[in-house]
Amino acid sequence: MTVLLTADQVVTPARVLAPGWLILDGDRITEVGEGAPPRTADLDLGATTVVPGFVDLHVHGGGGASFDTGTADAAAVVADTHLSHGTTSMAASLVTDTHDRMAAAVRELALLVQDGRLAGVHLEGPWLSPRRSGAHQPGSLSDPDPSSVEALLDAADPSTGSGRRGAVRMVTLAPELAGGLAAVRLLAERGVVAAIGHTDATYDEARAALDAGARLGTHLFNAMRPLHHRDPGPVGALVDSPVDVELIADGVHLHPAVLRTVFAAKPDRCILVTDAMAAAGAPDGDYRLGPMAIEVREGVARLADGSGTGAIAGSTLTMAAAVRFAAGEAGLPLLDVVRAATTTPARAWGLTDVGALEPGRRADLVVLDDRLDVVRVMRAGAWVAR
Ligand SMILES: [Zn+2]
Repeated sequence: MTVLLTADQVVTPARVLAPGWLILDGDRITEVGEGAPPRTADLDLGATTVVPGFVDLHVHGGGGASFDTGTADAAAVVADTHLSHGTTSMAASLVTDTHDRMAAAVRELALLVQDGRLAGVHLEGPWLSPRRSGAHQPGSLSDPDPSSVEALLDAADPSTGSGRRGAVRMVTLAPELAGGLAAVRLLAERGVVAAIGHTDATYDEARAALDAGARLGTHLFNAMRPLHHRDPGPVGALVDSPVDVELIADGVHLHPAVLRTVFAAKPDRCILVTDAMAAAGAPDGDYRLGPMAIEVREGVARLADGSGTGAIAGSTLTMAAAVRFAAGEAGLPLLDVVRAATTTPARAWGLTDVGALEPGRRADLVVLDDRLDVVRVMRAGAWVAR
């Protein structure tokens, strides 16, 4: 039996349908249209905007829990917290820790990737620049020698071998480290997204990584050599190349003018990420990010160094809040913002099943009110309890 939904606005990759309608069959979208629907609606969502379920490629935690503790229970808390805020596909991002602890977390999270609960694992480290390590534990950073890269990629699926993709879908690394370019090539060969981040690379070093197959910039501007007009660094290389860039739209990590500038330069290559840690969807307090102690005050997460001025350590964003900030305070067009929270990240990870309100895709929907607050969330054809 099919279900027909109508709403004042339905956002597709190409345009906003106003009014719009959707026909769902089980967990699939079968038809999308504008104007008068072909029959009476089963559910009229009225003065709302229907967008695809959000796709977040950079999430460490939420609801008080973190992926890097490596337990299925913690992962379920994180996933449920973000799901209630509209994220229907998400990465499990792991911060730098000892090899054994990271490998153990990959093994555990791979089970949730296999059953479709998580879109994949994102290793943020340990191959990061000590000069741009941010909230990553300096003592566990290392150069990306090929055997250690292979060992973490294969921690969960030792049989996948070259050319096949396992649970790890993305690796953030600093390409200027010894072995960096070889690691980028290895990742590209394995179908894993090589992301440039936590890096002190010069423009030329970043360009070499892009030539070697790097395809994405991790939280552009944050934890990387800054853009200078005579020394454009990784930011200049990433913005000037046909690759995707993550942006943290919380009003803390980036000035709204910077968001607008990057969206103007490459609207179809911008990816909104939360980089959320455990305090997302949870109160201020003291938390952990991997091995590091974090203090969250007024929604801003910092390394706990006693001064209250430590490095920013992830965000407390939900994707819904990022969308509200980007389309509200930063004033970006709704269509561009929704694409950056759905279609572009899905494409970047090869998630062909999600990320757009199109026939054939999974019925993942977020219903937003006129302030872009989340009213309802649907994943795989079922409304999520909120
Ligand atoms: Zn980071």
